[in-house]
Amino acid sequence: MFRFPSFSTLKTLPRTKVSGNKGLIAGLCAVFFLATGSLAQAFDTVILDPGHGGHDRGASIGYVFEKHLALDTARRVEQLLRKQGLKVVMTRSTDVFIPLGGRSAIGNRDGNAIFVSLHYNYNKSGSGHGLETFYCHDRSYMLAGYIQAYLIQETRLQNRGVKHANFHVIRATTKNPAVLVECGFVSNSAERTGMMTGLYRERIAVGVVKGILAFKQAR
Ligand SMILES: [Zn+2]
Repeated sequence: MFRFPSFSTLKTLPRTKVSGNKGLIAGLCAVFFLATGSLAQAFDTVILDPGHGGHDRGASIGYVFEKHLALDTARRVEQLLRKQGLKVVMTRSTDVFIPLGGRSAIGNRDGNAIFVSLHYNYNKSGSGHGLETFYCHDRSYMLAGYIQAYLIQETRLQNRGVKHANFHVIRATTKNPAVLVECGFVSNSAERTGMMTGLYRERIAVGVVKGILAFKQAR
């Protein structure tokens, strides 16, 4: 049984690192939502988007490919969500290449849904570590906040926060709240060792699912 966030949990939701108007607007929306207890919309379907696939490996070190990690993590999220009675749509459930436009088209196909893209991160120096969740449109901010908060609670990994970005899948998915989760750095040797285990990916999946359920309950 998942626990839903108490007020003290809500107060500790990660603050957006955005500067300028976007961040201010997102912050004000968050305060408004917390004050009124209402969120944008109900949903009964979760669209899961495992990043990359096919010829597009995503981040890779040796034989550790982001496309495989993302797909395995998404399948774990899928199983957990189905157990909770939610409908799940996968943009891909095998190792195939799907163009970005195909992914956002699925994100916009039906209303009454949320869109969650799953990725693993990379940086050249190898020093980057931790988890972060991106949103583009303000309506997606709270979903990003809940997922990020529960990811950190489940994994105790570095909290890189909730951030604004213009990545295609979260920008072009306009019909539903849409977020992109970076589930750890393939380029960081400690995190890479972790993410090669099912336990790490299961903890990520549980964190994502708890965040989704908390967002659903917060209405
Ligand atoms: Zn990626």
